[in-house]
Amino acid sequence: MRKFIAALSLVLITALWSASYGQCGSGCCATPKVDKIIYMIGDGMGVAHVTAYMLENGYRPINLDRAQTVGLVKTHSANNRVTDSAAAGTALATGHKTNNSVLGQDPDGNPLESIMAKAGKRGMGTGIVVTSYLTDATPGAFYAHVGYRGEHEKIAAQLAESGIDVFMGGGAHSFNERKDGVDLTEKLAADGYHVVFDFNDLSGVTDGRAAGFLTREPMPYITDGRDENYLADATAKTLEILTNNDKDGKGFFIMVEGSQIDWAGHGNSYENIITETKDFDDAVGVAFDYADSHPGTLVVVLADHETGGLSLVPGDPDFTKAESGISGAFSTGGHTAIMIPMFAYGAGAEKFTGVFDNTDIPKIMESLLFGE
Ligand code: MG
Ligand code: ZN
Repeated sequence: MRKFIAALSLVLITALWSASYGQCGSGCCATPKVDKIIYMIGDGMGVAHVTAYMLENGYRPINLDRAQTVGLVKTHSANNRVTDSAAAGTALATGHKTNNSVLGQDPDGNPLESIMAKAGKRGMGTGIVVTSYLTDATPGAFYAHVGYRGEHEKIAAQLAESGIDVFMGGGAHSFNERKDGVDLTEKLAADGYHVVFDFNDLSGVTDGRAAGFLTREPMPYITDGRDENYLADATAKTLEILTNNDKDGKGFFIMVEGSQIDWAGHGNSYENIITETKDFDDAVGVAFDYADSHPGTLVVVLADHETGGLSLVPGDPDFTKAESGISGAFSTGGHTAIMIPMFAYGAGAEKFTGVFDNTDIPKIMESLLFGE
């Protein structure tokens, strides 16, 4: 009987191993099968930002508590130990360091190809969801190649040419109020995109290509009126469309940004850090749930850098007494050089435990996704 149980256990363990590590044929392979990646960037989200949301939520579990592995990531750029979002986004998208303010090219001006562009070339679905504007540095790092991140109309034209299947966010004016008179939203519609200016107009769209220009300017903070379900709903909608498009099982690569955690850090607004981090964490929950029900999905959540030098300080420094309140204390209105936290979930999550450089992250993803 004992032998039988031992044999049965072995069969079960082998079956579980195969289920979690994909089609390995008769033997077992060390590399898990990953064909769908959800890359989630909380702009400016340091450990303190996540902790602030955890403690303001009364330590009830948040979605990031579900992470299966965690890591730490160094963020310096090619020319500054304190990075900006352009250089950091370029590192996270292409695996190469560049100078601050440069997007999608190296310090000498040579273009760098992003993992999203490579996925698109392989026939995989692609998508971008942000809460800022579509031509901002973080999304731009995945499709644009410019020497200066402020060239919004040039960046917008590069997005319209990128072939990315689904994208949504703010900043419509760089597309349809351009100095060159070209209306890129009309061009995209002519190219077959479902073009909308209100997120609710995507409710009936379940496949194909979609472009959402949801505000003329950058989207507002949640505390200034942005729909508090937008980022989670937009993430779910992008996953729905790309899943329905994926008839041949090639998979997809999407990037979801909690853009305004950074702005709250710049503004030294503890209140907006809580609401924007919660908003991002809600979208993380959508991604983790998707990974639960869709084998081969990897979710990696990280930041591009820390913003604000946030600390969580007690009302009374005498910690032998009971708590007298905690407040968010900022040490700068800019970015800092502090390592950022990374959380991974789903297929291949075990590859993201340790201490990394930001350029390592897309390289590991490429080895999982493309086998390179
Ligand atoms: Mg950003
Ligand atoms: Zn910033």
